[in-house]
Amino acid sequence: MLKLEDTYRHKGQRNALVKLLEKKGIKDGNVLQAIGTIPRHFFFDTALDSHAYEDKAFPIGEGQTISQPYTVAFQSELLEVKPGDKILEIGTGSGYQAAILHLLGAEVHSIEFQKKLFDKTKKFLTKLGIPIHFYFGDGSQGIPSQAPFDKIIVTAGAPVVPNSLLKQLEVGGILVIPVGDRKTQKMMKLTKKTAKKIIQEEYDNFAFVPLLGEEGWRSQSV
Ligand code: SAM
Repeated sequence: MLKLEDTYRHKGQRNALVKLLEKKGIKDGNVLQAIGTIPRHFFFDTALDSHAYEDKAFPIGEGQTISQPYTVAFQSELLEVKPGDKILEIGTGSGYQAAILHLLGAEVHSIEFQKKLFDKTKKFLTKLGIPIHFYFGDGSQGIPSQAPFDKIIVTAGAPVVPNSLLKQLEVGGILVIPVGDRKTQKMMKLTKKTAKKIIQEEYDNFAFVPLLGEEGWRSQSV
């Protein structure tokens, strides 16, 4: 049974989380406001929802996780979201990151590789009235039929930057992607200055579940 009650206690916990994220270095006021607005506990299984406002990743079923709030905030900040941006998210998962991007004013296209998770999250966000364009499939190759995108965010750890994603990025666009091995990845921000010139910036290490697929890891196992 889904619990869709947002109480003063939840709001208080969200405010405390926002303060913590500010302390950890998140500066974008719009991102902080979105985290302070979206009820993260809606995206949790009832058994775990008392943990929803801890700054931690948690299981969401099918061996996958909802990202840590700091990670969501950090990636969202790097994306420099502007109202009307057409954003591709790879790894819909619980739908929390997609909901944050929507609240920031983006047109969100989100793709998920796990059918059960795709079905569950599409149904849930539709019920919440959050208009996301959902796709089922291998997002490591992007979504050529919907390209180009102003921004692309990858929420699973990639072995390399997929070429398809760079191709599907608009000139002036930003790709935010964790790249590394199966356990830790460096957060990277790639800005497409011209069709041929990409500026690359590297940030801290994070620990994501693997990006599977044709331009990701070829199998679930090591
Ligand atoms: N953004 C999610 C959220 O807000 O809950 C968290 C994503 S979770 C850390 C990573 C997700 O990426 C998992 O749901 C996983 O199934 C998905 N994934 C892995 N490889 C993928 C691929 N090639 N295409 C699309 N989704 C993929």
